[in-house]
Amino acid sequence: MALEEYHKLRDFSKSPEPKGGGKTMENIFVVHEHDASHLHYDLRLSIGGVLRSWAVPKEPPEKEGVKRLAIQTEDHPLEYADFEGVIPEGMYGAGVVRIWDKGEFVIEKDEGDELLFELKGRKLTGKYALIKTRFRGKDSWLFFKRK
Ligand code: MN
Repeated sequence: MALEEYHKLRDFSKSPEPKGGGKTMENIFVVHEHDASHLHYDLRLSIGGVLRSWAVPKEPPEKEGVKRLAIQTEDHPLEYADFEGVIPEGMYGAGVVRIWDKGEFVIEKDEGDELLFELKGRKLTGKYALIKTRFRGKDSWLFFKRK
């Protein structure tokens, strides 16, 4: 159900991306570096059996004081946390996908417009927030490291 849009956007006979449907529980996050038409970072947090996902146009903040715009995108299957590869030309998201960071994810607060959590990755460690903003349309959030 939650992965309907993910499946709709992809042709798994041509894309090496995982279909999903196996795993349902894991306290992980991953950040993919996605060299598509524009290089960006995809932040994915394991919440409710899927990877909730945001596209971050600039490098995610390793320190406090930097706020990044994060555009929410379709939920991805948990298996996507292990995915690295090349999405062929002509496909949705065509380009090279690499894992930029990955680690344990601990949710502290999930109240619709406000997500507070802790990340234990190699690059991103500590307390972070995603706060919904109306600044750039309905899917825009701010992503930053907090005290
Ligand atoms: Mn992407």
